[in-house]
Amino acid sequence: MKIRLLGTGTSQGIPIIGCHCPVCTSNDVRDHRLRTSALVNVDGLNILIDTGPDLRYQLLRSGTTRLDAVLFTHEHKDHTAGLDDVRPINFLMKQPLNLYGLPRVMRSIERDFSYAFAEEHYPGAPILNTNDIEPEPFKIGKVEIIPIKLMHSSQRMAKQLPILGYRIKNFAYITDARGISWNEIPDIATVPFSPSEKAKLKGLDTLVINALRREEHYSHLSLPQTLSIIEQIQPRRAYLTHISHHLGLYEEVMKELPQNVFLGIDNQLIDIDDD
Ligand SMILES: [Zn+2]
Ligand SMILES: [Zn+2]
Ligand SMILES: [Zn+2]
Repeated sequence: MKIRLLGTGTSQGIPIIGCHCPVCTSNDVRDHRLRTSALVNVDGLNILIDTGPDLRYQLLRSGTTRLDAVLFTHEHKDHTAGLDDVRPINFLMKQPLNLYGLPRVMRSIERDFSYAFAEEHYPGAPILNTNDIEPEPFKIGKVEIIPIKLMHSSQRMAKQLPILGYRIKNFAYITDARGISWNEIPDIATVPFSPSEKAKLKGLDTLVINALRREEHYSHLSLPQTLSIIEQIQPRRAYLTHISHHLGLYEEVMKELPQNVFLGIDNQLIDIDDD
């Protein structure tokens, strides 16, 4: 199995337009981050996770010309806005593209890209099939996908948004999490972690997980919170994603991380032995 980190940046990407901080002005390409997305190549299938606003460039830069399915984590624009850019893939593959996500997320995509779901197909519009999933294992071809319940609070201490991560064989992908659970997050310091979701994350070779910045945040895990979750899950190695310019320079942050934890790098290819 191979994982391509198509993008590892938070919602604004890095550099942020108009920001002159050391990270946004860094010449190190490892500090340049498009919006978070990943491509999983497993048993001959190309499974894309999320379609952010940078999708076109991400597919070009990774040389991707085939997609067998898209898994959506949630409906925020930094994870969905680029969906229209799968049109060339439709054209090359001459078949509709299957999208998977929570019913709420699928309805949001049908609204945002309503022209693609019109009864009479508009020529040139993307050809998409939405598939509602529940947080229960399902299959794409012969590949088992295990959804993981994550909580991503969307407003300070108010509305909390249940979203999904995904496990495929010995790899798991978690982004935009503030808790590994669908339980409410009672306060800014707490990170709910349900025993049921912990069980799904046992025996991982590789975990990709979000870490926004050092300070706590109402809707994303902070670096110390993420490291504590990695410590509890004990994957062989972990890569951090959905990174903000506040986290710091690649070279500096890497020096502080445990030996088996790495900052994700855009377009990085991760090889996983899944036998
Ligand atoms: Zn996001
Ligand atoms: Zn900046
Ligand atoms: Zn989000």
